[in-house]
Amino acid sequence: MRKRIRPSAVTNVEVVNTLFGRYADLVADRIIPYQWDILNDRIADAEKSWCVENFRIAAGEKQGRHHGAVFGDTDAYKWLETVAFCIENHTGAEYKPVAEGLIELISRAQKPDGYLNTWYTIEHPDKCWTNLIEGHEMYSAGHLIEAGVAWYRATGERSLLDIGVRFADLIEKEFGPDGGRREGYPGHPEIELALVKLHEVTGNEKYLSLARWFIDMRGREPNYFIRERKANEGEYLFFDRYETAYAQAHMPPAEQETAEGHAVRAMYLFSAMADISERCGDEALRAACIRLWKSTTQRRMYITGGIGSSAFLERFTTDYDLPNDRMYCESCASVGLMMFGCRMAALTGEAGYYDEVERALCNTVLGGISMTGDHYFYVNPLEVWPDSCMSLTSMEHVKPVRQRWFDVACCPTNIARTLASLGSYIFSEDGESLFVNMLISSRISTRVSGGNLSLYLHSSFVQDGEVRMEVEKEGAEPAFIRLRVPPYYKMGELSINGKAILPEVDRGYTVIPVLEQGSFVITMKGRVVPRFFAAKEEVRADAGKVAVMLGPYVYCLEETDNGANLANVFVSPDSAIEIAQPEKPLPGDLPSLVFEGMRLSRSIVEEDALYGTPGFEMSPMKLKAVPYCLWGNREPGEMLVWMKALV
Ligand SMILES: [Zn+2]
Repeated sequence: MRKRIRPSAVTNVEVVNTLFGRYADLVADRIIPYQWDILNDRIADAEKSWCVENFRIAAGEKQGRHHGAVFGDTDAYKWLETVAFCIENHTGAEYKPVAEGLIELISRAQKPDGYLNTWYTIEHPDKCWTNLIEGHEMYSAGHLIEAGVAWYRATGERSLLDIGVRFADLIEKEFGPDGGRREGYPGHPEIELALVKLHEVTGNEKYLSLARWFIDMRGREPNYFIRERKANEGEYLFFDRYETAYAQAHMPPAEQETAEGHAVRAMYLFSAMADISERCGDEALRAACIRLWKSTTQRRMYITGGIGSSAFLERFTTDYDLPNDRMYCESCASVGLMMFGCRMAALTGEAGYYDEVERALCNTVLGGISMTGDHYFYVNPLEVWPDSCMSLTSMEHVKPVRQRWFDVACCPTNIARTLASLGSYIFSEDGESLFVNMLISSRISTRVSGGNLSLYLHSSFVQDGEVRMEVEKEGAEPAFIRLRVPPYYKMGELSINGKAILPEVDRGYTVIPVLEQGSFVITMKGRVVPRFFAAKEEVRADAGKVAVMLGPYVYCLEETDNGANLANVFVSPDSAIEIAQPEKPLPGDLPSLVFEGMRLSRSIVEEDALYGTPGFEMSPMKLKAVPYCLWGNREPGEMLVWMKALV
C-alpha cells in the first residue's frame, strides 16, 4: 500500500525566498498586529470589524447588538490560526499572551452545552440550527476547530482545541445518522475538513465519521435545503432566490461532474472530499475529485489562478466564461484552490496538481495583499479601469486599490494564515520521501526513513535557472527526494556532488535517491524564459489576446509604466521579451519585462464623433510589465493582463 503523504510541519520549515520570505516576516511583524487592531476596531479609517466586541457581548460582559457578518467570528479564529503558525515558525511568541486572552474570551462566550456562535447567541438564541443554508454555524465551528488544532500543534496547549472539541461533540450529538439526530449539513462547507484534522489530532473516529456523513448526506433527495427553505417560510438572511447548486447540494458530491456555485464553498467542499477519499479509500469520491479538479482548472479558471466568474453570488458560471474586468476571483477562492490542489497531490501522489497551487499562490493569493501587509483585495480583476469601478453599478465590487478592511472580511485573515503556513505547501512527506513541491527557497529539517534529514533549497530559477539543494542525511536507511520540476522549467543537467544523474520520474516527481549518510549537494541547471500565452478560442474574453508569464508569475501592464487607456495597446506574440531590473520599490527580485508594442492613437476619421469611419493610427511603443502579484503597490491606475495581439 502506498504511504500516506502529509504536508510538512510548519515548524520544520523556514521560508527564505526573497519574495515569500519577506511576506512570511511581514505576517509576524506587521500583519498580525494590524489585524488585531482591526478586530478590536482600533483603526479609524477602516471598515469596523466588531469581531472582538461580538465575543464580549456573547460572553455577557457587555451590552449590545451583534454587528457584522453572521460568520464574523471566523476572523478571530483565522487570526489565532495565523498566530499559531507564527509561533510554530518561531516568529510569533510575543503575540501569545494576547492570543491567550482572546482564547479565554472565546471560552467565556461558549455556551455550557458547547455551542459557540456570537450572532445566534446575541440575536437569535432560539433559532440555532434552523437555517443551515445561511447561518454559517458549522462553517464558523470549522474555523474554530482548525485554529484549535493549529494552536495545539504550536504550543502543546489544549485551551482552544478543547473549545473546538466541546463544540464538535455538540454538533455530533445534534447531527448524525441515528438516535433521532438532525439530518442537515452545512450550507458553507468547512467543518468537514476541520473534523478530519480533529480526527488526526485526537484519534477519535467519530469526527471522521461525522465529516464523511456530512459529505454523504449532501444533495440527497429529498433535498434538506429545499425542506429547510419551506420550513422557514420565506424568512431568510440573504437569499430571496435560492438554488441548491449555489452550495454544491444539487446532487451528492460523489456524482458531481462540474464545479458549480459559490467558488469558495466549492473549493472547501472538494478539499474535504479529497480528504475523506484519502482517509477512507472512497473511490467514488476520488473519481469525483478528479473530475471536479479538471472542470475547475481546465475550463473555469483564470490564468492567475482566480476562480468565480460572476460577482453575483460569487460563483462559477459556465465553461470558458472568464470576463477579465467584472469577474469575482475572490482571494479566498484561490486559497481554497491551493487547499484542494495539495489534497489532490496527497491523494494521487501526482506532482502536477502543484502547477495550479503555485499559479494561485504566485498570482491571486499574493496579489490579494499589499507589500505593506495592511491593504487587501477581496476581488482580483485582470483588467482595471478605475473610473469604471463605480458605486451603485455592476462594477461596485471591483476595487481599483487594495482596501484596509471589508464589511465581510474573510479574505485578509485567510491570506495571512496561508502565507504563515507556506512551508506546509512547499514540502510534504510520506516517511520515506521528502517532496519538494514548489521551488521556493527554504530550509527544512525533518525525519525521513527513520533519520534526520535537513535540506536547504536555494532556488534562483527565475533569475538564472539554478536550483541547488544542500542535503544533510543522518539516517542509514535509504531516503528519497521527490522534486517537482515545473513545466515551465527547461532542465539542462541534474547532478549530485557534481556528478550528473538521470533519475526516474514517478507521477511527475523527479525521484532523487539519497542512499547514504552524509552531505550532498544536488544541483539542477536549466532555463526559465518569459513567454506569451493565449487562451483557448472558446474563452471569448481573451479572444485574440496574449498574456505574458515568467515561470509561475503572470505579468501585467500598469498605467504608471505605460500610460492610460491600456485597452489601446497591441502586442505581437513574436515580440522579443527583455528581462529588465526589478521595479522599485516592489519587493522581492522578480524582474520586470520589456517588449515592443503598438498603441492605437486614433480610431476614426471624424473629429468630435463617438462613432465614424475607421481611420486607425498606430504608433510603436515600449511596454513594461510587472508581476501581477505586485500590481497596485505604486501609483493607482489602470492595469491589464490580457493585451490585444497583433496577428
Ligand atoms: Zn474571502
